[in-house]
Amino acid sequence: MKIHEYQAKAILQKYGVVTPKGIVSFSVDEAVNAAKQLGGELWAVKAQIYAGGRGKGGGVKVARSLDEVRQQAGDILGMRLVTHQTGPEGQVVHRLFIEQGVKIEKEFYVGMVVDRRQQRVCLMASSEGGMDIEKVAAETPDKIYKVFIDPITGLSLQQAENIAKKIGIPMQCMSQAVALLQGLYRAFDDTDASLLEINPLGLVAGDQVMALDAKLNFDDNALFRHPEIVALRDLDEEDPVEIEASKHELSYIPLDGNIGCLVNGAGLAMATMDIIKLYGGNPANFLDVGGGATVEKVTEAFKLMLRNSKLQAILVNIFGGIMKCDVIAQGVVAAAREVQLTVPLVVRLEGTNVDLGKKILTDSGLPIISADNMADAAQKVVNAARIH
Ligand code: ADP
Ligand code: MG
Repeated sequence: MKIHEYQAKAILQKYGVVTPKGIVSFSVDEAVNAAKQLGGELWAVKAQIYAGGRGKGGGVKVARSLDEVRQQAGDILGMRLVTHQTGPEGQVVHRLFIEQGVKIEKEFYVGMVVDRRQQRVCLMASSEGGMDIEKVAAETPDKIYKVFIDPITGLSLQQAENIAKKIGIPMQCMSQAVALLQGLYRAFDDTDASLLEINPLGLVAGDQVMALDAKLNFDDNALFRHPEIVALRDLDEEDPVEIEASKHELSYIPLDGNIGCLVNGAGLAMATMDIIKLYGGNPANFLDVGGGATVEKVTEAFKLMLRNSKLQAILVNIFGGIMKCDVIAQGVVAAAREVQLTVPLVVRLEGTNVDLGKKILTDSGLPIISADNMADAAQKVVNAARIH
């Protein structure tokens, strides 16, 4: 799960991480009032979307007067912001973060991810922070330093100091930087984060280090422990189809192809997509209906797939283990009737009560194309999609 920059900063502040003061705003008037309330003579007007790269896309501006705040807030709010992370369709801006503007002397980079091979959190830092960090990673990776953190002791003072020195944090800021890095790690650990990125960590007025940007993603599997984080979810930022899917406890991920897949079990779903590719087709989605799929769930799954205007055929691939094939067959028939299927449907069933399941499909009178095994199913669906 992702959250907005302003929400991430609020969490990090609780761990002693210094950031400029800021106020979230949902309208231009609110933005101007926020700037007045913050005071000073420099403000950053920042689009709040889940994607990064906002600065380059025109979603982060620095204002020198309240008039400029008004103008920039008006420009950014409601714009379709396109960044290298949003894809060409962009993301509409519904919220702004108005922040005290600071004069930045140098921009550093700090990031944390879980390193699976080391089974530890990896802290990465670089002297080359700012908006071109991807270029640094690609062209001069030796400018990014890494340290692996022992989960028992946390980020030690020594480790934090070493890495801060390596990236060139000035001596007069060392204790601040160490406290900030240790605060970041504690926040990462406490919230079950999967990714944290401070880019830039700014050196301000020569003697202050502060987080000027903050990206914080969480491990979905740990969200049950953090209702306060779940409450931050902004549905405007999420794909409506994925929201609908999660309501029905379906794992659904839209893809670029035209063959819908409805499968039980993530492994079988992956294998199904592979074999569709093998026979020259392209899956329109990943969809795992889980072990205990009911008629209602199967119907919802069909509805989700049919929302996709590119859909040309559907492949249902079910292995009836705990789930019996006749129950699935009933579900498929009921769902196909309810949604009035307009694309060819190929069904491959295997496992408990398979004969009964196949009979239910045949007796239904629906134009269902039955398949005997995965290869047969994949060939039939690829062909059906081609001629549809
Ligand atoms: P993104 O990474 O999405 O482009 P950032 O929050 O990093 O967005 O902002 C882009 C750039 O804007 C930063 O690299 C920094 O140079 C500048 N910036 C961000 N916040 C402030 C601020 N409060 N005051 C002054 N400049 C800022
Ligand atoms: Mg940034």
